[in-house]
Amino acid sequence: MSNVPVRVRFAPSPTGYFHVGSARTALYNWLFARQSGGTFILRIEDTDTERNREEWVEGIYSAMQWLGLGWDEGPYRQSEHRSHYDAAIDAILGGGHGYYCDCTRESLVTRHGEQAAVLGYDGHCRERGLGPGPGRALRFRVDPGKAVVVRDIIRGDVTFERSSIEDFVVVKASGDPLFVLANVVDDIVMGISHVIRGEDLLPTTPKGLLLWEVLAPVLASVLGPIEDSGGFPAFAHLPMLVNAKRQKLSKRRDPVAIEQYREEGYLPEVMVGYLALLGWSPKGDREIISLDEMIGEFRLEEVNHSPAFFDVEKLCHFNGEAIRAMDPDSFAEACRPWLGERAGSEIFRRMAPLVQTRVARLSEAPPMVDFLFSGEVAFDPASWEKAVAGNSHARAVLESVAASSRRVEWKAEAIKEAVAAAGEQAGIKLAKAQAPVRVALTGRTVGPPLFESMEILGREAVVARIEAALYRMSSGG
Ligand code: GLU
Ligand code: ZN
Repeated sequence: MSNVPVRVRFAPSPTGYFHVGSARTALYNWLFARQSGGTFILRIEDTDTERNREEWVEGIYSAMQWLGLGWDEGPYRQSEHRSHYDAAIDAILGGGHGYYCDCTRESLVTRHGEQAAVLGYDGHCRERGLGPGPGRALRFRVDPGKAVVVRDIIRGDVTFERSSIEDFVVVKASGDPLFVLANVVDDIVMGISHVIRGEDLLPTTPKGLLLWEVLAPVLASVLGPIEDSGGFPAFAHLPMLVNAKRQKLSKRRDPVAIEQYREEGYLPEVMVGYLALLGWSPKGDREIISLDEMIGEFRLEEVNHSPAFFDVEKLCHFNGEAIRAMDPDSFAEACRPWLGERAGSEIFRRMAPLVQTRVARLSEAPPMVDFLFSGEVAFDPASWEKAVAGNSHARAVLESVAASSRRVEWKAEAIKEAVAAAGEQAGIKLAKAQAPVRVALTGRTVGPPLFESMEILGREAVVARIEAALYRMSSGG
């Protein structure tokens, strides 16, 4: 095995958004290829015509590009390899390894009642000699014999008794090859040396190996010279991802789409750094490390087999840290997808260092700075009610700050003293005195550091906005 060149593949099915688990699988394959001088292949497993959509294929490409996981070969599309699967089907039939079956779920229930689901397929059609035809699936015949052993780098040897493997379907009644067939044929033809994928596929692996045994020798002669992986590939089944309740991550319950994280403004290097930690960790106290460091340090055999907690809060925390560590210009540029032209404006460039200290995701930037760009403040009703309309100190504080804003030196420090003095007069602390001022200026109770923002907004705008808020109060707004 060791002198065989490393060829790994990431083989997603385009049936939905790009799942964080798929991204982790892609990353581990990519890392393994990069560090062994091997080849990383992208293969789109699009044989399930009912569930595949072209937009999900595009989603896979763009998510991988965003994460920085370029591929060396492909993208291959299974839908373009039909002739390979046909050759495999001929080989299965020719070698007496398969038979046609017209059983339906109902016919199994008729034969076995409630036991049907537990029993699985009962071998009813094994000796019936059915030929191909509508409504007939092709099954692979699992004869008694040696147990099937999956050699797994992460889990060690996993043994499956043949008696636990039913005669499984390889071609659906519709004529489409089933996942397990297309998957194994491609792995043979592409000379895959290591299969690195989620542990949800472990139960299918013994079926794949039975097919491999039968097909590998035959496909080479049918399809001409194919890449030779020198026997079975090595396997690495990656741990399942779970949420805080230790439940398997689910599309319905948990935020699992890479697209969503991208839209919320997670940085790709944080995302990929966090994905690496889902089953593996670098030595020492470090957490998020760069792709380059990972290439040096990642070890497939160090991957853990117990479920990995996908901790969105932790990811968010890492993201906030990385945002604070950016230089302000890069931060401002990174905000462009959310702010458009405004990202390049003078006023945003001045605000950027303040905003950086308060956001954990880039999508939080626009609501924090939109007050800079519109003459009229858009008041959030709850903030207005809490800090202004329903606050008995608001009027006194606002009147005092409006008055002092006309004369104090226009610097954050002096502005702060003026607000503190207004609070003192009203008998409240600085933090309390800030709230109505912040709402008068920005429309909200949360935002970037206030006094620096006031300095940037400018004396005139500050006075005008406070006066407008006072007027709104009097008119019962
Ligand atoms: N296409 C399969 C899936 O998306 C993965 C196949 C594999 O990695 O072997 O679940
Ligand atoms: Zn049958």
